[in-house]
Amino acid sequence: MNPIRQKLLDWYDESARDLPWRHTRDPYAIWVSEVMLQQTRVDTVIPYYQRFLERFPTPEALAEAEEDAVLSHWSGLGYYRRARLLHAGVREVVSQYGGEVPEDEEARRALPGIGRYTAGAIGSIAFDKEEPIVDGNVTRVLARLFRIDTPVGASTTTKRLWEEAGRLVPGERPGALNQALMELGATVCAPKQPRCEACPVSRDCAALAHGEVAALPVPRPRKPPRQVKLTAVIATRGRGTKKSVWLVKGKQALFGGLWGVPMSEGEAQGALREAGLRARLHPEPHALIEHTLTHRRLQVEVFRASAAHGSDTPSRRLFHPEALAGVGVSSLTRKILSTADL
Ligand code: SF4
Repeated sequence: MNPIRQKLLDWYDESARDLPWRHTRDPYAIWVSEVMLQQTRVDTVIPYYQRFLERFPTPEALAEAEEDAVLSHWSGLGYYRRARLLHAGVREVVSQYGGEVPEDEEARRALPGIGRYTAGAIGSIAFDKEEPIVDGNVTRVLARLFRIDTPVGASTTTKRLWEEAGRLVPGERPGALNQALMELGATVCAPKQPRCEACPVSRDCAALAHGEVAALPVPRPRKPPRQVKLTAVIATRGRGTKKSVWLVKGKQALFGGLWGVPMSEGEAQGALREAGLRARLHPEPHALIEHTLTHRRLQVEVFRASAAHGSDTPSRRLFHPEALAGVGVSSLTRKILSTADL
């Protein structure tokens, strides 16, 4: 037998947490638990799982329920799409398979809401099938154990992870083996500061041997920020020391809740119009500013407009430059205003 496999099983038998869904082989209950556990912490899921199965103890009970009743038992868990898909999947099990979750892997994976992971969890735990599973916890364990150094999410990485998981799962108690991998990721092989000294497979771990534990798994590359071109207008009224500038709040200011100069993705005149201002617009931009937000890189052409007038409202006001220090102004607007002689 694969020595890693045996160590994982022995460790799981000794150390696994006692969780309610580990007392059942009912494929429906395991399905419910797996769907709830996606994106939600174990401690949060436990009471929901218990209440859900009390109210909907069988596939038939869930299939007959109205969607509102199902969602109300999900209320607080979030990601309601999961609940709708579970409901749809279970209805199909009742209508197509007489209420029996299919043992056949292909049939299981054809059900709404069941991907490769959920199918594998149900197959291995409920039906003792040698079907692998790969989730976030398993990814971390396998990437470290086998020193997989390509980014998470890349197709080569995904393929390799499923292959490694697929090599470990064959043999006795495939469901326990899969749960051991998940449990190790959840309790020992943590993202930060894994407890390698308590790990049953530390002697087999390639990342530990190469001092690369902290570097693995390699995170998925961040999406480059989206480029957005904007036009901003410094609209002023008055001259000399009496010169003031119009700022707007809310949608037009791009940064909800903060004051900003009128801005638009279109022309400068449009920015003024959207802000409800009339002004003498200087036809040429006088500055070009780059500004990076979390997901956007802004390129802002800055125009000037004078003799600007409009009415004062809660979301549109004329500010004297000295008053700006005490109000919430977006950092982009501060940058823009710094280009003008106010
Ligand atoms: Fe994870 Fe450390 Fe165990 Fe390797 S030795 S699998 S890094 S806990």
